[in-house]
Amino acid sequence: MKLPLLLAALLGVAGTAIAQAPPAANHDLGFKDTPMLPGLPWHVHDPDRPHPPVVTPAATPGGAPSDALVLFDGRDLSHWTSHASTISKAGSDGPAEWKLGEGYVEVVPKTGDLATKEKFGDIQLHIEWSSPNPPVSTSQGRGNSGVLLMGRYEVQVLDPYNNPTYADGQAGAIYGQWPPLANPGRGPGEWNVYDIIFEAPRMDGDKLLKPAIITVFFNGVLVQNHKESMGPMVYRQVAKYVPQPAEDSLVLQNHNNPVRYRNIWVRRLGGYDEPAKK
Ligand code: MG
Repeated sequence: MKLPLLLAALLGVAGTAIAQAPPAANHDLGFKDTPMLPGLPWHVHDPDRPHPPVVTPAATPGGAPSDALVLFDGRDLSHWTSHASTISKAGSDGPAEWKLGEGYVEVVPKTGDLATKEKFGDIQLHIEWSSPNPPVSTSQGRGNSGVLLMGRYEVQVLDPYNNPTYADGQAGAIYGQWPPLANPGRGPGEWNVYDIIFEAPRMDGDKLLKPAIITVFFNGVLVQNHKESMGPMVYRQVAKYVPQPAEDSLVLQNHNNPVRYRNIWVRRLGGYDEPAKK
């Protein structure tokens, strides 16, 4: 085997992707004598339709692809600030106060939430978390935190292992609204993974044009399938939509339990060959 081939074989999928280049524009592949696609400015198999950008996947599963914004790689909190806790009102706006460990960040009780400096609307989010080990307390007092999309729409983080609680408050729930479809959670101290696809709501003032849509994979298992959110997270109430910005910070909830997070990255979503969604 020649050296380049051997190298490609050793690199596997990632190596193959690195070798790719975007197809040349105006090439002679495709057809112009085919019907137009409904509602689109393209023929079927149109040679002029833009090609998707080449993205280099991570070398290991769960890693950030080349077009992701890495929000936390285990080393610093430069993308994050502290916001007063949405639950206890503890803490204040200012520098992030959570504890950096070996490759992870840990909730410090009685401080604020952790919020990104960047604001996001539609995103793909990868985030890993683990519950305190040994576990302390029960139900909503055990390993409680949360991923608050746009600082409002909570995908619940809670110790999922032998920890009975109400169904719409367990790990993977859209808190207070939709229980997860399954509980694939790992035990205290073990790492869990959320891969979330979030579509921000569209509003015109206080009029809801389109609700927030949330899809969640929990340790690779689909637990929320394109669910419509009823509105921003509330406790013991029915959620409802109120006027909000088009984009806002991603927030990690401080529920006074020392939950850990690591490997957090996002990709902004939007069609490369279609207008931004309104
Ligand atoms: Mg929570």
